[in-house]
Amino acid sequence: MAGRLDGKVAVITGAASGIGLGTVELFAAEGARVVACDIQDEKGRMLEQRFKGQVRYAHCDVTQEADIAAALGLAKSEFGGLDVLFNNAGISDRMTSIAEVTTEGWDWIFSILVRAVALGMKHAAPLMIERGGGSIINTASIAGLQAGYGPIAYSTAKAGVIHMSRVAAAQLSPQKIRVNAICPGLIATSIFGASFGLPREVADQMAAMVAANGAKAQPIPKAGVPDDIAKAALYLASDDSLFVSGTHLVVDGGITVGGRHSW
Ligand code: NAD
Repeated sequence: MAGRLDGKVAVITGAASGIGLGTVELFAAEGARVVACDIQDEKGRMLEQRFKGQVRYAHCDVTQEADIAAALGLAKSEFGGLDVLFNNAGISDRMTSIAEVTTEGWDWIFSILVRAVALGMKHAAPLMIERGGGSIINTASIAGLQAGYGPIAYSTAKAGVIHMSRVAAAQLSPQKIRVNAICPGLIATSIFGASFGLPREVADQMAAMVAANGAKAQPIPKAGVPDDIAKAALYLASDDSLFVSGTHLVVDGGITVGGRHSW
């Protein structure tokens, strides 16, 4: 059976874990060739081994423009071009309130969550233009839509990603490049533990707890998993969404709608 991404080449950042990892797996299953970018080299190399010939790992610290450019270049040198960029790498922080904001902390969060997305789009666009168009997907968050789902710098950065995606969609539409954001709700990944520097087992427990608590509060009472977001990314990456650009797709079990319905 034909895959929904047959013939397409995708670059995915934050690919070693959580949402990025789930998206590499789904995109590969749907026929894409993927450059998987992360700073967790051991996990990245294991991914390359698992999908030999179909996935290439690139050490890419998204705070470094040269790393981003090199990873995108690998899509062309290794797989012949670039059709899809999933700007997904992320981290959260502990600056919960305005009083806790520091210059370094603010710049660090923005360098990963906002600047990297802009630079990714900057270096991806010329490669996509060579292919006659493409799809850029940026991971935002429900924290960028409503207060109460993340620390202040994180939430502000994610709101920025939503709007940057709209601006870029308008700018890149003449080149047939679509740009959209995804706003995940509470998804069981290591981001919660990683942000607090917790050991692996504790981080995993925390992820499960966050997802279970989310499920209790959501109209759809199911813990969010990376595959829920990967499926949204698949839609936006595929030709099924050729009429969709400049939007943000909320995938959150309905938590931002509020209320709870009987099923
Ligand atoms: P995760 O911790 O499982 O994955 C994040 C990945 O990004 C990790 O593999 C990490 O190594 C990588 N990364 C971190 N800093 C990097 C850097 N400087 N350069 C390259 N890679 C880097 O977390 P996740 O939940 O899968 O996060 C993916 C995205 O989803 C993030 O942008 C996050 O903000 C967003 N998000 C997550 C949730 C959630 O509930 N998990 C909700 C909303 C949005």
